Amino acid sequence: MKKLVALFLFISIAVSCSKDETPGDNGGNNGNNISANLQPTGSSSRDLLSDNTFESLVIELVYVEGNQPTQAAVNNLVSFIGARTYKPGGITVQSRSIPSPGLSPYTTQEIADIESANRTLYNTSNTIAVWAFFADGKAEGDTNTQVTLGTAYRNTSFVIYEATVKSLSGGAFEPSTSVLESAVMQHEFCHILGLTNLGAPMQSAHEDPSHSKHCDVESCLMYYAAATGEGITMVSGGNVPELDPQCIADLQANGGR
Ligand SMILES: [Zn+2]
Ligand SMILES: [Zn+2]
Repeated sequence: MKKLVALFLFISIAVSCSKDETPGDNGGNNGNNISANLQPTGSSSRDLLSDNTFESLVIELVYVEGNQPTQAAVNNLVSFIGARTYKPGGITVQSRSIPSPGLSPYTTQEIADIESANRTLYNTSNTIAVWAFFADGKAEGDTNTQVTLGTAYRNTSFVIYEATVKSLSGGAFEPSTSVLESAVMQHEFCHILGLTNLGAPMQSAHEDPSHSKHCDVESCLMYYAAATGEGITMVSGGNVPELDPQCIADLQANGGR
């Protein structure tokens, strides 16, 4: 039983992220300049990591009713960001819910459209804003053996397929929901931080040749299948995979800590 779950999770996280094409700008925001938040994934690596331009970071966390992430996972993300970036002005989270868009399974373009319709926080002179959406339902393309848990699709935007995360956690022989949420949230956030070879220049060769923009260290948070082998044991045992020293070095070299 445990093996089945492990295999499933292995496959899950294997495709948990696709830093794929950047959806176009679909929207307005009342005429504010939002173009700085509509850039390719990884392009705000230095702005997120350092305090050169932005001393503060705010996460606009929007979830579909019934799909709120655990407070523990949100706290873990804030702690994780604080440990890797310089934001002397602070890291804050503004959470709220929206009704279901009713579009599951979601394409990345639909996720981007939901952002355009609901996002209210964009960069200001000293605060960089990140949009985190927790969807009800699954990603288009999910199968019985392959599911997407999250996608970092723009420089300051990522989605977590919370309904899928919940379906794979919290039960017998499954990792706790807060641990799986933490792993996926931190993995996707690290893509917008520029990992791996996605905006934060590599200080050593550690990109997985078979899975671009991911680390080749099997125990690393940025391994394409962060939960394989020992990793799944870690998640099952209540620990979130950590970044390996090479990924940390990349972040430090691009303004992080
Ligand atoms: Zn990934
Ligand atoms: Zn790594």
